[in-house]
Formats: sequence, structure tokens, C-alpha cells
Amino acid sequence: MKSLRNIKSLTREERAAALKELGLPAFREKQIYAWICRGAQGWDACTDLSKDLRARLSEAFSWENASVEAMQVSSDGTRKFLAAFPDGQKVEEVFMAYEYGNSLCISTQVGCNMGCRFCASTIGGRIRNLKAWEMLEEYLLAVRESGQPISHIVLMGMGEPFDNYEEVAAFLRLIHDPKGVNLSYRNITVSTCGLVPGIRRFTEEFPQVNLAISLHAASQAEREMLMPVAKAYPLEELMSACRDHAERTGRRVTFEFALIAGQNDTPETADRLSDLLRGMLCHVNLIPLNPVAETGLAGSSRQTAALFRDALEKRGIPATVRRQLGADIDAACGQLRKKYT
Ligand code: SAH
Repeated sequence: MKSLRNIKSLTREERAAALKELGLPAFREKQIYAWICRGAQGWDACTDLSKDLRARLSEAFSWENASVEAMQVSSDGTRKFLAAFPDGQKVEEVFMAYEYGNSLCISTQVGCNMGCRFCASTIGGRIRNLKAWEMLEEYLLAVRESGQPISHIVLMGMGEPFDNYEEVAAFLRLIHDPKGVNLSYRNITVSTCGLVPGIRRFTEEFPQVNLAISLHAASQAEREMLMPVAKAYPLEELMSACRDHAERTGRRVTFEFALIAGQNDTPETADRLSDLLRGMLCHVNLIPLNPVAETGLAGSSRQTAALFRDALEKRGIPATVRRQLGADIDAACGQLRKKYT
């Protein structure tokens, strides 16, 4: 038997065309799309379609959902889901409660090719890119499983968003669509390890979406040691793209800086970082590295992190030490998936 196409995997245009082929009027796509965005879990949930029509549609298309393969709940309320897609591939997503609302960290690829030395997601390389609809599934799954609304999304899970630019862009438009989930662009953050052409394109195409840069080093030599991507896109080019982004959009750029004990957490590094960022509309997020056994690297103490922050602040660079949400549940990217593959 020929396997049916999953109705949720089609773009709106593809879905409209496929429904037209069945002789259905255009408003049917609008109805089905609304059900998808509301998190309906099957044809039977689409109660404004007649029973006969639902039966006809279910013979033509499957309705498949991402499912929860595993879940970890932290003592601070953070929940980490291992989501499985219909083809069996799995990604991690993390639900976090903040004062301003609930935030969801989603993945953009199964695995990652960027090779950052401290990161668990990259250990097995990239298996495949996620499609826009699969990123939407991550959101729908988290809303369903947490039973709570999600007001913020960060693309900071497994994978490099700008190594999958087209689908990430399609997802941003999809989740923002006022006729669907209707999430404000200002409540979305995309994080990149520093693929400069992607950053420049993003500045043009999504000036309202927040940009975060995983920096982790304050000189080209240090950055090359931690992040192979720095060889392709040197620090100078990266900084120039970031300055242009801040100037063009009027929005501050966030710099992620994972503090590694004895490596990038020294007062000298803080000084170099201040020089690098001086004059830019920006904010530095400091987080002691989450230890990943395979890397042999250790995170700095909270005390060292606080000193590093103070050194930046003294030089006029706004910085915060992030709370380590979910530290008791392997919150570092890729650690849960590795247990299940
Ligand atoms: N590829 C994108 C987004 C995914 S990684 C990027 O690089 O930004 C999300 C963030 O987690 C990045 O800032 C990444 O550098 C950081 N990260 C990865 N492993 C980590 C670890 N063990 N401890 C702390 N942060 C880590």
C-alpha cells in the first residue's frame, strides 16, 4: 500500500493545491490550517469538517504528530522533551518558565556539523535538517505536554539555524503568521555560531527577530580553538556583521559566552571582550559551561562568572550571569538525545 502524505508536512500552498485536486474549495485549507495551529491531533478533532469529509480526507492524507520519546523535569520546573518525528529522528526541546512568560528552546537540525568543542549536539555530526513544519511540531508538542501557553521561542537547541536557512526562515514566517500561531517576531531569538552570510541575510529579512551570537572567545586564536567555524568566518568579519545588524535594526545583539574553567574566564579575556564589543548595542549572556563528559571541559564557578561579569560592567558592557535552568537534567544541548541513540 502506498503510504499517505502527512497533511501537516505540506506548505500552505502545497496543501491548497492537493485539496484542490480532490475538488475541495479553498476555504478547506484555511480550516485545516487553523486546526493544525490549534494543536489538533487527528482528522477526528477537526469538528467543523463533516464526518464524511473527514473520512475522505483521512483516506487521502495521514495526520501525524511528533511524539514524546522521553521527558526530564528539573526541580526548577524546566522540562526537557525528546521529540520523535514520524520518520523516527529525534530532537531535544526545552521548556522554561521565566517571570515574563514561558519560553521554548527548539532545535533546527538533527545533530549538527559545526563541531564546537564543548557541545554535545555536534558529536555525531548532522543527520538531517528539520523542515519548517517539524519546528512547528516542536512548539505544538510543548504546548500540549506542558499544558501552558508559550510566549517566547529561542532557536538555540540542537543544530545551526543558518546551516538550514530556508526552512528556519519558513518556520519564522509560519509561527509569526497572524492567521496561525501569531507569535510576535520580537519574542523570537535566533542563535548562531557565526555563519556570516546567514547573519547578513537575516538582518535584511527579519529585522524584528532577535539575534544571538555564540561567541565564547574574545580573540581569533581562542575562538578557532573552540569553534572551527571561526576559520571560515573570522572574528573581524563576524563583528562587522554584528555591528551592521545592530545599526540597521536598532536592536541589541546578544552575545552568548560559555565560561570554561581556566580557559576563557580570565580577567584578560574580559578586557579583550570589552574592547571587542565597545560601542555596540549589545548584551553579554554569561553561563558557566555545562559539562559534557566527552569534551573534558569544565564550567567556571559562579564566583568566577560573577567576577567576569563585573569586569565587563566596569568597562561599560552590559552583562548577566544566566541562571542555569535545568542543570540537574543534562540541559546542555544534545545530552538527552545521545542517551537514546
Ligand atoms: N548553533 C547555534 C544554536 C544552538 S547551540 C549556536 O551556536 O548558537 C545553543 C547555545 O548553547 C550556543 O550558544 C552554544 O554555544 C551553547 N552551548 C553548547 N554546548 C554548551 C555547553 N556544554 N554549555 C553551555 N553552552 C553550550
